[in-house]
Amino acid sequence: MLGIGFIHFHYSPQIRQIHAMNILIVHAHPEPTSLTRSLVDESVGALQAQGHAVALSDLYAMRWKAVFDAHDFPARKNHERLCFITESGHAYSTSQQTADVESEQRKLLAADAVILQFPLWWFGMPAILKGWVDRVFAYGLAYGYRGEGNRYRYGAGGLQGKRALLSVSVGGPAEDYGMRGINGPLDQLLFPITHGMLFFAGMDVLPTHAIYGSGRVTAARVAAEKSAWRQRLAGLFDEAPIPFRRQNDGDYPDGHVLADHVAAGLSGLVAHIERVPRP
Ligand SMILES: Cc1cc2nc3c(=O)[nH]c(=O)nc-3n(C[C@H](O)[C@H](O)[C@H](O)COP(=O)(O)OP(=O)(O)OC[C@H]3O[C@@H](n4cnc5c(N)ncnc54)[C@H](O)[C@@H]3O)c2cc1C
Repeated sequence: MLGIGFIHFHYSPQIRQIHAMNILIVHAHPEPTSLTRSLVDESVGALQAQGHAVALSDLYAMRWKAVFDAHDFPARKNHERLCFITESGHAYSTSQQTADVESEQRKLLAADAVILQFPLWWFGMPAILKGWVDRVFAYGLAYGYRGEGNRYRYGAGGLQGKRALLSVSVGGPAEDYGMRGINGPLDQLLFPITHGMLFFAGMDVLPTHAIYGSGRVTAARVAAEKSAWRQRLAGLFDEAPIPFRRQNDGDYPDGHVLADHVAAGLSGLVAHIERVPRP
């Protein structure tokens, strides 16, 4: 379970420990006193108290390069034209990626669970975190696993066996994000992340943890939210993941489109979630 960059907690004999896991927290907020950051600190403390090893990627503090560009490929395969997928696969398979990307991939590969903690910005993640995914989720690792294109995706792939969880501070009130709320359901707004990035790469994704109305919190509310977050973290390895349909379990006979009898009458994003999870 030991991973490079993980801080190991030396727990006392009084603390009951069943399985010590490696957990990577990727944090995207520039302000050290932010609500988001205080929840990150809560995560580190709570997970270490459970006996887990925690690695933290504090992207702003690391001055993470958010933009995926030609500088990501110091040893190009094709100097005539920049094809990101070709160069990503080449750099990954020949160990010629940049040092910052390699370091994050080591943390990712060592992790049993990955927690992304961020404020909701324009219905998505801050650009610096999107840039972490763009650059770290290389071809051959998070997509194009084993160089086989789309054969391994949506529940299969290089990150299979890992858990993932989003912890999001949301400015708007919960009612704006309900099924008929003006913003649309948060789960659907974040589908590109939960389904399109994390599940795509093979991870089991837990239901998103959101703190709504985050711009107007009191100290009492923060304490209650921290307590609720600790509860979620206590179930990190027990909670059932979102039952997204897996590409290779039969629901998509051609690997592209749902079979007619699957989710009959449903279309759009919700069709890709099983209503009754498989045992
Ligand atoms: C570019 C941008 C885009 C946005 N897009 C959206 C959007 O699409 N949808 C949406 O709903 N919202 C949106 N927002 C709002 C955003 O989601 C919130 O500003 C954010 O979630 C607040 O979290 P934070 O960590 O930044 O909180 P902070 O700004 O750090 O804090 C929020 C409040 O909590 C207080 N506070 C912080 N820590 C504590 C503590 N420990 N104890 C007591 N009080 C504390 C602060 O004083 C402040 O009043 C957007 C904001 C920006 C800047």
